[in-house]
Amino acid sequence: MRPKITVALAGNPNSGKTTIFNNLTGTRQHVGNYPGVTVERKEGRCRHAGVDIHLVDLPGTYSLTAYSAEEVVARNFIIDEKPDVVVDIIDASNLERNLYLAVQLMELGVPLVLVFNMSDQARARGYQFDLDKLSRFFGARIVETVGHKGHGMQQLLEAVVATAREQDCAEAQPKSGGNLACRASIRGPQASDGRIDYGPDIEAELEKLTDLLRQSGFSGPKYNPRWLALKLLENDKEIRSQIKSPRLLERVDQSRERIEKRTGENPESVIAGRRYGFISGACQQAVRSTIEIRHTISDRIDAVMTNRVLGLPVFLAMMYLVFYLTFTIGDPPMDWIEEFFGWLGSSVDTLWPADSVLKSLVTDGIIGGVGGVVIFLPNILLLFLAIAILEDTGYMARAAFIMDRLMHKIGLHGKSFIPMLIGFGCSVPAIMATRTLENRRDRLVTMLVVPLMSCGARLPIYALIIPAFFPKAWHAPMLWIIYMIGILLAIASAKLLRSTILRGESVPFVMELPPYRLPTVRSVLLHMWERGWLYLRKAGTVILGISIVLWAMTNFPGLSPKQQAEFEKQRQMVENSFRSEPQKAAALLEEIDNRRAEAALESSIAGRIGRLMEPLLRPMGFDWKIGTALIGAFAAKEVFVAQMGIVYAVGEADEESESLRSKLQNNYSPLVGFCIMLFCLVSAPCMATIAITRRESNSWKWALFQLGGLTALAYVLTACVYLGGRLLGLGI
Ligand code: GDP
Ligand code: MG
Repeated sequence: MRPKITVALAGNPNSGKTTIFNNLTGTRQHVGNYPGVTVERKEGRCRHAGVDIHLVDLPGTYSLTAYSAEEVVARNFIIDEKPDVVVDIIDASNLERNLYLAVQLMELGVPLVLVFNMSDQARARGYQFDLDKLSRFFGARIVETVGHKGHGMQQLLEAVVATAREQDCAEAQPKSGGNLACRASIRGPQASDGRIDYGPDIEAELEKLTDLLRQSGFSGPKYNPRWLALKLLENDKEIRSQIKSPRLLERVDQSRERIEKRTGENPESVIAGRRYGFISGACQQAVRSTIEIRHTISDRIDAVMTNRVLGLPVFLAMMYLVFYLTFTIGDPPMDWIEEFFGWLGSSVDTLWPADSVLKSLVTDGIIGGVGGVVIFLPNILLLFLAIAILEDTGYMARAAFIMDRLMHKIGLHGKSFIPMLIGFGCSVPAIMATRTLENRRDRLVTMLVVPLMSCGARLPIYALIIPAFFPKAWHAPMLWIIYMIGILLAIASAKLLRSTILRGESVPFVMELPPYRLPTVRSVLLHMWERGWLYLRKAGTVILGISIVLWAMTNFPGLSPKQQAEFEKQRQMVENSFRSEPQKAAALLEEIDNRRAEAALESSIAGRIGRLMEPLLRPMGFDWKIGTALIGAFAAKEVFVAQMGIVYAVGEADEESESLRSKLQNNYSPLVGFCIMLFCLVSAPCMATIAITRRESNSWKWALFQLGGLTALAYVLTACVYLGGRLLGLGI
């Protein structure tokens, strides 16, 4: 420990800085000016625990922007002279406003001590602080003081020395986090990492700029690149003037413009809003007031929305509304799209003169496969629209806030809730949305269980199976049960992961409550479109490719010439011997064609793989035909239905065939139907999900773990249900 440390006192004007400075230094102080500006510079010294403390009283400021000379002086002192500890004197009776400066100091990443001064007045106004929690949120020790009575000065000095000591240890051994002696001597707060989530629009630009700054070597030891990028987005003149590259500045302006276009506000106010959101959330979680004082409109709305009693019912009602609207409004356009693809298929069929391999590829493979996916676009876009509106108005942050306590019970955060909700649309954007979770463990757990939220692509499977096997009164409850199973499994898996391989103390972080605002149409549509596009792109690329591959797998290699000749011979025989009975002849010919098609399917690549898998599938009640469809489902869940269609269409030759549903009904029991849904719900998500998990977790290990874990879970669960069901005498 150095024998001498420098400590800067920061704080809003009138927070009691000078009073505390005088308390600490007594007469040992002198007054000067900061060079070049007429801002008073007061310095003094004192001793504590054998350490000489050099105190500098910074000018009083509300913020660390570059709007006034005082702010620039305070900021430059902190950045250039690197005091060992910054003490922020806060008027605790006016906490939210005073914390704005604290947030900025936190973001700057300086060793910080927060002083809740005027705590006598705060108490008189009925505030109760959970100092432990606040201290974790801000990653700083907090001391309560009453300046003009001199209360709390010893504790303040202790906190200062402890913070400086901790800093020394961290610097001495940056990797291991301090040696044993160090660790024993300090008990610093288990801090959050002092990052504010600025929301997807700002974060995206921040990420870009941070990378750019790193590449161009601006992130020296002096500035951290995220902070620098943030300041540039805020259009900080001081920082701008230090960036010499006009190209970089141009990129900054582009970023600012994009933000403005998307949010309809200038970046400064969005950023300030999110900072207040952080403070607001922190205070909601850690400050109790015996006398309710709520000022802004946001506060008043929150009095209802985040109310302990009303919050949850309001939230559940919102969610119900979201799903109700998604499915009722989404229905008619779904029909239109279905009709369109049906029309397209039959038009191609009639316009294309002769049957050929290419025609079969286009109608069965491409139009059928891709059409089956695009049908769900209205549902998915509507769900994303609703989510975008909830996010942009600021309600989503409240939902996360309300869910926080419940989510904590399963070892997750309220913030994990949003990705899970998006997961009902599509796992790919949902996994990308886990980026708001700063803690890697929380993020991984969320990522791993998101696929259990039944995504839009599984819906066609349920839509096919449920009406085939269950009476009408059971349709809605069945669907609900399936979704619930997914949710419950997600909860159970999260809890399991959190208490085994991803164990660890969860770092508390603030559930930001950004101000409510009216979203712009533009930004809502943009946000909806970005997520919807991920889904469509999947349909256009992955699924198109897979449809073609699957089509080929079910159509090739086809029957051998010998088999062909055999079936031809049979046909000839029937035609010759039943010339007088055309009806009987037709029936017999149809039977032959069916057998031929089935033989062709069985000898196809898909059929052979299905057959190979059959012993493995039998405990779940599945046959090789379902097996071939499951291969497709792994590629993308939507393909299951298309593939069942192909499997059963290949096995049919006449026009007036029974519908796929009645075929399923004839071939399988309701128990098997349920097992199909269960397996598709739980089993490995589609390839796109695995790919995005790989990208977002930055490791194949987790992607493969997700793949293997979910498949194994699905297998065991489905087999248990099937075998259990058989024992109970169901579905024999
Ligand atoms: P500065 O502008 O931050 O330097 O604030 P000052 O130190 O000049 O204090 C402003 C006023 O608040 C003075 O009248 C102080 O006596 C008063 N004050 C300082 N600390 C406390 C406190 O803890 N409680 C109360 N009630 N008043 C205080
Ligand atoms: Mg003063």
